Amino acid sequence: MPLNFDVLTPAAALRIAAVTPFTSLDYPGKLSAVVFLHGCPWRCSYCHNRWMRSRRSEEGDPKWSDIEQLMQKRKGLLDAVVFSGGEPCMDPALPAAVRLVRDAGYAVGLHTSGAYPRRLRELTGLIDWVGLDVKGNPEDPRAYDAIAGIEGAHKAFLESFEILRTSGVALEARTTAHPDYLSEAEILTTAHWLKERGVDTYALQIFRKAPGMDDCRFDPVPETWPSSETLQSLKSLFAHFTLRRG
Ligand code: SF4
Repeated sequence: MPLNFDVLTPAAALRIAAVTPFTSLDYPGKLSAVVFLHGCPWRCSYCHNRWMRSRRSEEGDPKWSDIEQLMQKRKGLLDAVVFSGGEPCMDPALPAAVRLVRDAGYAVGLHTSGAYPRRLRELTGLIDWVGLDVKGNPEDPRAYDAIAGIEGAHKAFLESFEILRTSGVALEARTTAHPDYLSEAEILTTAHWLKERGVDTYALQIFRKAPGMDDCRFDPVPETWPSSETLQSLKSLFAHFTLRRG
């Protein structure tokens, strides 16, 4: 009789919103499956995954047993499972799920904005790679909170950054940028702040409007932004710099 993983493990409580079974984009250098979790306490105006911000599960959502089956089926084809969202650290069942993924022999990636430093600390010995959102200039707390749409975002980010910096977990810092809320000077200040603290991998993700963002007030970003001088400075700052458009 097949085992019912949804009954046997605390990971069954994970509120999964969607699954991408196979991608090379979400964990650099690895082929991975991405598990998107419901829930995020922040309200970034450029959010691509607005429908995932509620913690409410929907009928037909994937279950943990689907992830177990996927891991069994793709053994040898996939390297990693990435938890994303939403804000995956909001889910109390995440550490249990991460342990099961490790036990199954996969590397674990995490996309986070740093909203839950305590849960992140619990995870640092278990995860292999983190994509950490840097919403804005870390030297400007008020602007940072405004971009994230919530008071206290900057404080949580700083705490999470420090946890990751001292943990030795492989880290990609990434910023989603639009000239309406982040100037080129602020991008460079952000990059220098990260570099001074030992970050060597940085991605600048240029805002784009995704389906379902009709109420988003931002215009498309011209191909000429940011300037080639700014891009050159970013390239020279980091051992690994990536520009992502579209
Ligand atoms: S932190 Fe991420 S999921 Fe949450 S609102 Fe911002 S962009 Fe959306």
